[in-house]
Amino acid sequence: MCVQSPWEKALAFHGHVCPGLVLGFRAAEIGLRELGVELTAAEGAGLVCWVENRACAVDAIQAVTGCTLGKANLVVADYGKQVFTFARRDNGKAVRVSLKLLDYGQGELVALQEKVLAGGGETAQKALARKREEIADRLLEMPEQELFVVRPVTVQLPPPQRVQTMVACNACGEGVFAGAAQTRDGRVLCAPCAAGAGA
Ligand SMILES: [Zn+2]
Ligand SMILES: [Zn+2]
Repeated sequence: MCVQSPWEKALAFHGHVCPGLVLGFRAAEIGLRELGVELTAAEGAGLVCWVENRACAVDAIQAVTGCTLGKANLVVADYGKQVFTFARRDNGKAVRVSLKLLDYGQGELVALQEKVLAGGGETAQKALARKREEIADRLLEMPEQELFVVRPVTVQLPPPQRVQTMVACNACGEGVFAGAAQTRDGRVLCAPCAAGAGA
C-alpha cells in the first residue's frame, strides 16, 4: 500500500506548491510535536486547531492534522495573520505558532501576479509558478526559529461536534439543525428567514 507522507497529503489536498502551503505544513508539524501528538492519533487526543487566515496555509493544517471544518475541530478567525494555535482536549495543553514578520519574497510574487492579471498569458503564469516553488523550497529548508515564534498558551476549547435533529423552518420549509433554528413570535425560523422577517 502506498502511504502518503504528511507533505504529500498537504500537496494533494491543496493542488499546488506555494509558500503558504509550506508555512501551514511546518506550523502543523511544530504544533503536533510540541503537544506530543502523533499524526495518526490526532483524533484520539482531541486535537483542535485555530487558524487566523483563510489562505493556502489552512489547507496544509487540515491535511496534516486531520482537523477540518466539517469535524468542527478547525476554528477559523480570519484576521489575516499567519498564526496557528493547536490544543488537545485530553490534557488541555495548547501552543501558539506565529510567523515572524519576514520578507520571503512576497513583493516579487505580487509583481508577478500583477503581470498574470494584466493578461501576461502563459509566460507570466509559468514565471509566477516558478517563483512560488522557489520560495516554497527555501521556506521548507529554513530553520524553524527563523520562521516562527512558538509559545504555550491557554485556550477556551470550542464545544465538541454533536449530532443534531432537524426541524422545519416555518417560513421556507427547509430543514434546519435544531440548535441553529430561531424562534420569532412563536414561529421556528432558519437564520436567513429570521433576518428577512426582522427587516
Ligand atoms: Zn497555495
Ligand atoms: Zn427558512
